[in-house]
Amino acid sequence: MRRRRWTAGAVALALVLGGCSGDNGAQRDAPVREASARPSASPARPTSLTIVAAGDLFVQPPLVAQARSDAQAAGRDGYDFSQIMAAVVPTIQTADLAVCHMEQPLGPEQGPFTGFPIFNAPVELADDAAAAGFDTCSTASNHTLDYGAEGVTRTLDHLDRVGLHHTGSARSAQEAATPNIIDVFGVKIAQLSYTFSFNGIERPPGQPWIANLIDPEAILAEARRAKSAGAEIVIASLHWGTEYQNAADAGQLGLGRQLLASPSIDLIIGMHAHVVQPIEKIGEKWVAYGLGNLLVRFQDGSPEHTADSVIPTFTFTQAAPGTWRVSAVEVRPVFMDYHPKARLVDLTTAKATAGPRAADYARIHRRIAGYVNLRGADAHGLRITDQPALPAPATTPTQ
Ligand SMILES: [Zn+2]
Repeated sequence: MRRRRWTAGAVALALVLGGCSGDNGAQRDAPVREASARPSASPARPTSLTIVAAGDLFVQPPLVAQARSDAQAAGRDGYDFSQIMAAVVPTIQTADLAVCHMEQPLGPEQGPFTGFPIFNAPVELADDAAAAGFDTCSTASNHTLDYGAEGVTRTLDHLDRVGLHHTGSARSAQEAATPNIIDVFGVKIAQLSYTFSFNGIERPPGQPWIANLIDPEAILAEARRAKSAGAEIVIASLHWGTEYQNAADAGQLGLGRQLLASPSIDLIIGMHAHVVQPIEKIGEKWVAYGLGNLLVRFQDGSPEHTADSVIPTFTFTQAAPGTWRVSAVEVRPVFMDYHPKARLVDLTTAKATAGPRAADYARIHRRIAGYVNLRGADAHGLRITDQPALPAPATTPTQ
């Protein structure tokens, strides 16, 4: 979430948290979450706000190794994902609300950390996602149950610890029944999270609430509960689609239309395919079928486009009291370079530099734009970020 509108409550929270190191023993700055602070001292409710979404935080063993060596190079224990993600942090932090997706459960603090077919990730991923500026994370995926109920509980406990809102899995029936609603400068925004599969792992007997399986009626019922609870914008995060296929599949096309036809769902954000899928305007609303993996490290020699992802910014403008419409969509293409170190590259910035990879980055930028526009989004006003952002002013805020 945007940091410039500090509230009195958030400043107090920062002062309290400033000396803490969290419960993982790592010597890290404690993230400060504005989303949990009451906007008591904030200015008037906005009539326009931005929601940024990023793809799967999906950590394969080589990325765990990178996070380990980054931490060691900085003289720290544990794992450090902040350097891997550094290039995209400015985009995430300028959003009014930033949405993430935790694909795998978080593991025990000392590991072991595993990859295909059963995944988990170091708990520092939660710290670094929060510090990057994410506010709320969907957790329903085909890997949610890889480490059973224990993995679900551990993941949600750590997301709570770092102040990240979450949705899609739960530690109790009551938690599952409570919509995830974030107060964004006085505007309530809900995020829901559902997945097509748990890779054959059954939910524990009597605990169907532990993680959300896609069921249109259940999704719409939760969306209606969120609206009844005051949400003015409802985002459905869906783990769906066909892996490694850029085109949206028939299931995505059908479900996307069905859900957006409801007044209770305002935006769909998709994950899972490991590649970038199109963004489409349906009626007055938008669906991003698949953002690609934000964090990814497949084996060397994997198809290059599996390292692509996009970070869309949806600007919502209030059309009438309590009713918001997307008035602009801007998509920032990003790419994970594997060598010499795994690092996310903001292609818009990188292609404009004179570095040795500039031509590659320009080509990949064009490729990703092609995937995003497979269903005509550009004709409906979607813009691919094409110019590096101007540097932020060094001095104090404008009015
Ligand atoms: Zn998946």
